[in-house]
Amino acid sequence: MKKGKKLYEGKAKVIYAAPDKGMAIQHFKDDATAFNNLKKSTIEGKGILNNRISEHLLSSLNHIGIETHLIKRINMREQLVKLVEIIPIEFVIRNIAAGSLSKRLGIEEGTALKDPLLEYYYKKDELGDPLISKEHILSFEYCSVTTLDFITNQCFRINDFLQGMFKAVGINLVDFKLEFGYIRHENGSVEKILLADEVSPDTCRLWDSKTDKKFDKDIFRKDLGNLIEGYQEVARRLDILHEQTNIRPIKFSKPIAVKIKKNKWKLI
Ligand code: C5P
Repeated sequence: MKKGKKLYEGKAKVIYAAPDKGMAIQHFKDDATAFNNLKKSTIEGKGILNNRISEHLLSSLNHIGIETHLIKRINMREQLVKLVEIIPIEFVIRNIAAGSLSKRLGIEEGTALKDPLLEYYYKKDELGDPLISKEHILSFEYCSVTTLDFITNQCFRINDFLQGMFKAVGINLVDFKLEFGYIRHENGSVEKILLADEVSPDTCRLWDSKTDKKFDKDIFRKDLGNLIEGYQEVARRLDILHEQTNIRPIKFSKPIAVKIKKNKWKLI
């Protein structure tokens, strides 16, 4: 698919115009950044894994009726998506204390929260994406109360679903970040609110349920080892690592047998 002009470049993705109006091509880069750009690196293969994992999670969410911007993955690094107007709020849902929550409130990492906790961060790089309250959102009209209620409900539904999905493969969904965007009618009124951006080990904390081993971007943030191996482990457990990629294959400790199933290699 022919890419049009670059519409936006973020830390880990580039958005290009697509041939069809109202659509865009989302390209996943290998760049990794942390601590508001203070730590930077390029990790070969990260974009490919995030593209594939995010495609899987967003299409699974689509199946349970959560509307997302994803139309389809078009190649190893790119997805065709609906072009949305991003709401300037990062919605962070937490099940277990970690990261900035632990630091801010002195709660020990790994403490299970009584109920899922939803936090809002104002999307503004220059300010370091500050934590804000519902009152800030409404007072500064970052979105309407109806939109906020709708998104809040979506966040908890998404959390329930993803928590279950990861639990089934031995992973605790510790916390994650979501972004939403508008599709507007010709007259400017809001037609739909879609889940946008990505859901991947770059935007989630994913810990092994038994050992608490990290399979997410904290491997890079905290120098915990090989990030690609962590992301591959997530893809392997979700059973989506079928295609040939140019990234290093994972070493399976005990392969029992291999059989060809509908053009895919599957371990049995
Ligand atoms: O750093 P903090 O603990 O607030 O992050 C909470 C969750 O949100 C983590 O899973 C992190 O990866 C994600 N996040 C993100 N993008 C940001 C900030 C946080 O994906 N800009």
